[in-house]
Amino acid sequence: MHKKRQQNTVTYVCAECGAKEEIPQDVLEYFDDINPEQLLYGSHEFKCEKCKTGIMKPEKEPEIIIKGYGLHEGIEERLK
Ligand SMILES: [Zn+2]
Repeated sequence: MHKKRQQNTVTYVCAECGAKEEIPQDVLEYFDDINPEQLLYGSHEFKCEKCKTGIMKPEKEPEIIIKGYGLHEGIEERLK
């Protein structure tokens, strides 16, 4: 049976120890709800469970817009 349940996840990486974690989109949307101000600064960040000091950030930053790839491209990326 190849019934694949599709769930969008975002790969988060710890800047300190390199641990990776898949964060479901649902969870990120939940954080959008409870902490909408964070969206002004960028993606949600989580404290690393492994090393306790590192900050986990998305492996692929959706904020390419800031780095100058063009606003529209960035928005499309976010809507996918
Ligand atoms: Zn870590």
